[in-house]
Amino acid sequence: MSAEWIAKLTAKMRQIDGAGFGGTPEISSIDIAAALSGSHRRGYLLVLTKYADDNSAGNALWSELAEEIKRERVCSHDVARGVALACIYPVVNPSLCGVCNGRGYIYPRLKDKTIEEAARPCSSCRGIGRTNFPERQRAIIARIPKSTWWDRWKEYAAEKEEYLWLLESSTLQRMREQLKVVA
Ligand SMILES: [Zn+2]
Repeated sequence: MSAEWIAKLTAKMRQIDGAGFGGTPEISSIDIAAALSGSHRRGYLLVLTKYADDNSAGNALWSELAEEIKRERVCSHDVARGVALACIYPVVNPSLCGVCNGRGYIYPRLKDKTIEEAARPCSSCRGIGRTNFPERQRAIIARIPKSTWWDRWKEYAAEKEEYLWLLESSTLQRMREQLKVVA
């Protein structure tokens, strides 16, 4: 990992956790690098792609996922790469829910309750903090005709994308735990 990626990643991590990643206001780039170093390979690639704009990590993740899709679904190289991109893209570039600003929770001001007590899941996005990515747009990204996408790829891609979301959250969770140890 280059120093530049680590600096970007550190800045992004501070942003996404608001008060400080893992509750630690002063985390260094070295702490971030160490926390990421033991991660699952794909989680590592995904986090670098998403939070550090690391193109080589993005390309590696794209190629690996495409190889897997090619094996699992017996399709051409180009189709596999298209589907892989359509799975990765919504995870790396999510459109945040405009109602809760991506937090997944609404915090109404209630006189006799604290913010934590008043918090409730956002009904607009069902607590996930992002809006659904249109299938039409996935088909365009994959360069697959819409009807073929719908019949052959939609459900498969949804599972793959879900796997990437879980991978991201488990990698970030692991990093938080590691950073708590540092603090
Ligand atoms: Zn929402």
